[in-house]
Amino acid sequence: MNKKGILIVVSGFSGAGKGTLIKELLRRYPKKYALSVSATTRKPREGEQEGREYFFKTQEEFEKMIAKEELIEYAGYVNHYYGTPRAYVEQKLEEGKDVILEIEIQGAMHVREKFPDAVLLFVTPPTASELQRRLVDRGTETPEVIASRLQRAAEEAEGMAQYDYLVVNDQLEACVEEMHHILQGEHRKSFRNHRFMEKVKEELQQLKGE
Ligand code: 5GP
Repeated sequence: MNKKGILIVVSGFSGAGKGTLIKELLRRYPKKYALSVSATTRKPREGEQEGREYFFKTQEEFEKMIAKEELIEYAGYVNHYYGTPRAYVEQKLEEGKDVILEIEIQGAMHVREKFPDAVLLFVTPPTASELQRRLVDRGTETPEVIASRLQRAAEEAEGMAQYDYLVVNDQLEACVEEMHHILQGEHRKSFRNHRFMEKVKEELQQLKGE
């Protein structure tokens, strides 16, 4: 069946482990999913590579991308811009892959408005103290940034109910499979299968006429 892919938004508190989850999902099912690489004005963290984690941009470059409408959505997050480049997403959807956007809540809400068929998942750790522990253990952020991210998490918690699915990231393996099942289930929704339904109806008409 030659079908367009689904646009998938994955949000979750900073430190919820969504990056690890998505990486594992892509590793297990490389033919089904593609990950969009965002543009950002924040500086690379140690170990991050241009074009792999992000496309790192100056504020001026980022604003040019906005002006040229090269981004599907963008948002400000803890003093920096983050946005989703359009070309890659459109190409992969056309190829029939489900494209994952790992973005924060404002961006997620813009995607929902522009692409009502997108599926929105929110990843949360089992408890809030687990979230703090993961942020501290990561060791890449200053205490001030950790505090801003926890503050932001409290704000984002208000928006969890806007998502289609909540995924509790307790045990990685189980969580990855759960996400995969949710997304495969989405492909079975009738509104995503108009062409197939039309074909079956047509065939039935023909059989009736024979
Ligand atoms: P980090 O700095 O930890 O890599 O990302 C900070 C936040 O920005 C995360 O919640 C991440 O999901 C979000 N983010 C990353 N890329 C994008 C994007 O393209 N658009 C939006 N709206 N948020 C993004």
